[in-house]
Amino acid sequence: MKPLVAIVGRPNVGKSTLFNRLIGRRIALVEDQPGVTRDRHYADAAWGGRAFTFIDTGGFVPGEKDSLLKQVREQAQLAVEECDVIIFVTDGREGVTGADEAVAKYLRKSGKPVIVAVNKLDTTSGQMQSLTADFYKMGLGEVHAMSAEHGLGVPGLFDEVVEKL
Ligand code: GDP
Ligand code: MG
Repeated sequence: MKPLVAIVGRPNVGKSTLFNRLIGRRIALVEDQPGVTRDRHYADAAWGGRAFTFIDTGGFVPGEKDSLLKQVREQAQLAVEECDVIIFVTDGREGVTGADEAVAKYLRKSGKPVIVAVNKLDTTSGQMQSLTADFYKMGLGEVHAMSAEHGLGVPGLFDEVVEKL
């Protein structure tokens, strides 16, 4: 069986955009409204000669009584149980949120290799990059600035992923 790499994070941070970018097809639905990806999407992927199975997680179901935070954390839990490397996607424009903190706390305890991807940094200006500083404080190690939409920082992120496989 190929190693499993999962993308986790709260809704609307760009998980499906990142997934589609690596896969090169629009398998996962990208939507402006949070909560569209109900199912998990699996695809065979490869980077730098390493093959793996790539998983886009979702699971936030609007209107259900479970809080958003709980649902996002459950996704992270599933990823920790079944995956070899986790990409934790966050929104660099919004900064670290309560839901991010909750997921980070859980991921830290898991001991699984985690790479933090700070998304929506569409320009390379110093001001945008300085926004990544708070994400280091979550204590998960490596932090990568990127723009899934424009492809900035994405190759470096996947170099790091395959190093951990
Ligand atoms: P998910 O809920 O985490 O899967 O997020 P999606 O991939 O569905 O994206 C949510 C929204 O963020 C969509 O409107 C995307 O077009 C937008 N988005 C994703 N990546 C970027 C990015 O790098 N920069 C900007 N500006 N918007 C992005
Ligand atoms: Mg999605």
